[in-house]
Amino acid sequence: MDHNVKYIFVTGGVSSSLGKGIISSSLAKLLQARGFTVTIQKLDPYINIDPGTLNPYEHGECYVTEDGAETDLDLGHYERFSNTRTSQANNVTTGRIYQNVINKERRGEYLGTTVQVIPHITDEIKRSIRILGKTGKYDFVITEIGGTVGDIESFPFIETVRQMKWELGTRCAVIHLTLVPYLHAAGELKTKPTQHSVKSLLEQGVQPDIIVCRTEHPLYSGIKQKIAQFCNVSPTAVIESRDAETIYEVPLLMRDENLDIEVLKKTNTAIPDKLDLKNWIHFVNNLKNPEKEVTIALVGKYIELKDAYKSINEAFIHGGAANKTKVKINRIQSENITKENVNELLENVNGILVAPGFGNRGIEGKIEAIRFARENKIPFLGICLGMQCAAVEFARNVLKHPDAHSTEMNPKTSYPVIDLMDEQKNIKNMGGTMRLGAYACKLNPDSNSFKAYKKALVYERHRHRYEFNNKYRKDFENNGIRLAGINPDKNLVEIIELKNHPWFVGVQFHPEYSSTVKEPHPLFVSFVKAAIVHKGSV
Ligand code: GLN
Repeated sequence: MDHNVKYIFVTGGVSSSLGKGIISSSLAKLLQARGFTVTIQKLDPYINIDPGTLNPYEHGECYVTEDGAETDLDLGHYERFSNTRTSQANNVTTGRIYQNVINKERRGEYLGTTVQVIPHITDEIKRSIRILGKTGKYDFVITEIGGTVGDIESFPFIETVRQMKWELGTRCAVIHLTLVPYLHAAGELKTKPTQHSVKSLLEQGVQPDIIVCRTEHPLYSGIKQKIAQFCNVSPTAVIESRDAETIYEVPLLMRDENLDIEVLKKTNTAIPDKLDLKNWIHFVNNLKNPEKEVTIALVGKYIELKDAYKSINEAFIHGGAANKTKVKINRIQSENITKENVNELLENVNGILVAPGFGNRGIEGKIEAIRFARENKIPFLGICLGMQCAAVEFARNVLKHPDAHSTEMNPKTSYPVIDLMDEQKNIKNMGGTMRLGAYACKLNPDSNSFKAYKKALVYERHRHRYEFNNKYRKDFENNGIRLAGINPDKNLVEIIELKNHPWFVGVQFHPEYSSTVKEPHPLFVSFVKAAIVHKGSV
């Protein structure tokens, strides 16, 4: 039962990309700091069942949960801020809602009634929200509604918010995030877009309780009163959300604006005296006052897109802060890397990361970057496809099999060092069918990975179809590769390292997904450390 659970909705107006995910995560952080348990969920209005089949150009990185759900990248922020694991239930799309309703209809569960948006779709949305409350694990469920109010697609979600607000009374609060633009010519902040967007929400029957105003300039006196008056909220419930230097400062800015207190007031919750943000403040201080700096090349094919490697960037922020070091990321388009220019492109970096990915584009550039890291003893981290490319590079240039490849790129290669996993061989559907989620990995005690993790068994998240071909293990081990991590259940190679190299680690999994502010990922911490050592040695 979820009798005592409070449900908070976060909607957005005026424009997309205002940072609903960061506001939701910041609120979760503040509520946790007051001693409450919180989970955050994202409802996405698009029709894909999940973002697993989406090109990164569409919605940025696809984030993967421990239970193997392919989700929106906002779930990454939720985990990084709250240090609480999310699951399949934390990201629901219109596609999944309709799929569930249609499956129920086919099973005859609607007993002959006409199946409609209201109540059947909205009931299914409600069920997907309350399922989290019913776990009994949380005091608060924060649900972020993707898109912008007024969008045709988000109507059933907003209608569900209306119904839940009515049904739950003070156990429910709605936060509406809007933009207060500054018009340079007029020299003024403008509240009209906020008024209109609240009107649009009101037309759908939802009165927001709290309005968070994203702004580039401080809201001068009078603005909060004006918004309050036009939008039927108290002036204390108008919250300023100014652009911050880093997203990790936003919880502190929201604390200063009393966002958590407003939520507690609106939901009739006693306000605890305690607000323990000690560790968070320590992290932000480390982040803002680095003592050193290193440059890491991020080699990938989506480099022009900020969100494509979101979790990797954030993991570097965590790993950097843990080392009191600023990590400058130099994004390099793998398609542009050649044997001729690799030296010029990479000679000044202190570490090289080759990114995950699919397909052939830019693959030869990745392999060239790895050769450069191996030969010049530059710290290297290869993630998923990056690890697979490291195996291909080694097979080609050290083991002298010039046409070695992954069968994903060249099905006819004579040395298929990376090959389709057995369990993938008969799979035809694309969506949700990869090796997904957390799997065990047993570490070799004599490895850099073990030194980083300081334990023998770890669980890491995967998203791939291909694997290291066990047939070639001996060739590799006999010629300088250390198999540093093995999945004990299926005997799959999960980590390869170079023996004669200060720090060269290729991982078949995605360490970046599980790095949080509270627990920076050990491999990123260790990689940054290796980059610092490298910088000191040149
Ligand atoms: N394309 C590779 C595979 O499917 C790697 C996937 C990845 O980097 N996430 O195995």
